[in-house]
Amino acid sequence: MNEEPTRRDVLGYGARGAGLLVLGSTAFYLTKKAHAKGVWVIDPAKCINIRLGTTGIDQFCDKCATTCVIPLSAVRAVNDFSKCGRCCICPAYFDVASDIGRDGLPVRKLCPRDAITREAIGDVDPDDPLNNFYEYTIDKTKCNGCGKCVMACKEPAGLGSIRLEIRYDLCTDCNRCAISTACPEDALARITRDLAPGGKAVESSH
Ligand code: SF4
Ligand code: SF4
Ligand code: SF4
Repeated sequence: MNEEPTRRDVLGYGARGAGLLVLGSTAFYLTKKAHAKGVWVIDPAKCINIRLGTTGIDQFCDKCATTCVIPLSAVRAVNDFSKCGRCCICPAYFDVASDIGRDGLPVRKLCPRDAITREAIGDVDPDDPLNNFYEYTIDKTKCNGCGKCVMACKEPAGLGSIRLEIRYDLCTDCNRCAISTACPEDALARITRDLAPGGKAVESSH
């Protein structure tokens, strides 16, 4: 009796193998979805960079940038335009400790990754260029959530319009968030999506 598998047998095994692979992938996906009902969030009242009362740029905490498991971190800074004063000399955009140039502005920027852009709102008065307003936008492809600008924008120097957020389109939702382990203030918490504002995960507005 010939025990060699026929071509039809081989094709049959292949099809069944592919089917099992699809089923396995689907089961893994559904398990992950079921697990993914919680999300990691930063408590603004605890985070050194966001909370009121801790000031001084040298005090900023960079652990969100340096300990996340994904490249560049899942944490990014966002500027809440509804709170931003659109200051001409923004302490989060400029390194206000640097020298003042001939244009009356600090010569250095604060962000180590040059992730903040500044655009004049309306026409700039050439006779009074410092009396103008600017829109500051954070480039999420450059920002690594180092938190420096967040610390600098805080009252009393700024209006606290910049904050740090975990972006849910980037976060891989680790069981034990590496940042939560490293955070010196225990400022990360895992909450259910239902508890997040709007009844779902908070997506960054920018
Ligand atoms: S590690 Fe903690 S304290 Fe440091 S920036 Fe992140 S949330 Fe804030
Ligand atoms: S958090 Fe850091 S990298 Fe991101 S915009 Fe602010 S200073 Fe730049
Ligand atoms: S859960 Fe993982 S990917 Fe998400 S912020 Fe924490 S360490 Fe980064």
